[in-house]
Amino acid sequence: MSGASVRGSVSHGGSDGDRRPRILVRYASDMSRCSGCEEPWCEEHGEHYSECSCVGPHQDDSYDYEYDGDKLYAVEKRL
Ligand SMILES: [Zn+2]
Ligand SMILES: [Zn+2]
Repeated sequence: MSGASVRGSVSHGGSDGDRRPRILVRYASDMSRCSGCEEPWCEEHGEHYSECSCVGPHQDDSYDYEYDGDKLYAVEKRL
């Protein structure tokens, strides 16, 4: 027998059972500025950060937040 797969023993750290996607949280300070109005501009979505679908750090109603290193991730709440 090779490749002993250790499973069970839910320990802190790796959560393989939790497959909710993690979304990297985007801050307004990560964004460039709109050349027209100086609002934060999302180049990924091509719209103002306030209007695009990036997940920001204050959407507690829809997401749980967790840090991984110095990055903040949002995880969709289970309903
Ligand atoms: Zn603008
Ligand atoms: Zn965006």
